[in-house]
Amino acid sequence: MVFYKSQEEIEKIRNSSLIVAKALAEVAKVIKIGVSTKYLDKIAEEFILDNGAVPAFKGYRGFPATLCVSINEEVVHGIPGNRVIENGDIVSVDCGVLKEGYYGDSAYTFSLGNVNPEVQKLLEITKESLYKAIDVAVHGKRLGDIGFEVQTHVEKHGFSVVRDLVGHGIGKNLHEKPNVLNYGQRGNGMLLKEGLVIAIEPMINLGTYKIVEQRDKWTIKTMDNKPSAHFEHTIAVGRNNADILSSFKFIEDVLNLKNN
Ligand code: MG
Ligand code: MG
Repeated sequence: MVFYKSQEEIEKIRNSSLIVAKALAEVAKVIKIGVSTKYLDKIAEEFILDNGAVPAFKGYRGFPATLCVSINEEVVHGIPGNRVIENGDIVSVDCGVLKEGYYGDSAYTFSLGNVNPEVQKLLEITKESLYKAIDVAVHGKRLGDIGFEVQTHVEKHGFSVVRDLVGHGIGKNLHEKPNVLNYGQRGNGMLLKEGLVIAIEPMINLGTYKIVEQRDKWTIKTMDNKPSAHFEHTIAVGRNNADILSSFKFIEDVLNLKNN
């Protein structure tokens, strides 16, 4: 069943989503070539606990960490560990928190060092597709409109949409109905109504859309080992526009400072 949220509930989801946004900004501060993915996880976990929140992924169906860190051909659900980030890597960092009974969820893909221009383009187009989807996440539109926006934008640039992993409703549960597909047809699917809160999260591949699970039973990678990008916002469907409850501003402020 689909749960529609009151404004009071939406503010709680915003609060959790902003802790995620700021935890990802803490990751942005320390992410660099030579750093291990488990160090990023430690930084995020400390920040979340210091803010009176709980890491949402840790223990979720047995997942062992605070962050999902997925490098290059890894699409999502990478487990932080001893792997060290190398020059030219792209690193998807996905984070969720629980506070006052409500979840927030957001993901950002970082580029480190000299990233292949085609791969950099994959990141830019994936992020653009997320915002195009958010633009149609308004009362009276349909779920298919969201998927349509993502799919048409990325396919126009020759990239492909992962089919087997999707966005989701979010609130008192990390994953709620409905499934939010990143492909679809305009005017199809569930009607979007004010108060629906969803995580929109395009997972976009440079090559084939097909994916495979790794032997660790968590990490998902592309079948052709080509790179994959992932950006995610938690948003509330509004009457005239979507309310973006998470934010990339904190992350991008840090990245801009680092680059200057
Ligand atoms: Mg996520
Ligand atoms: Mg999610």
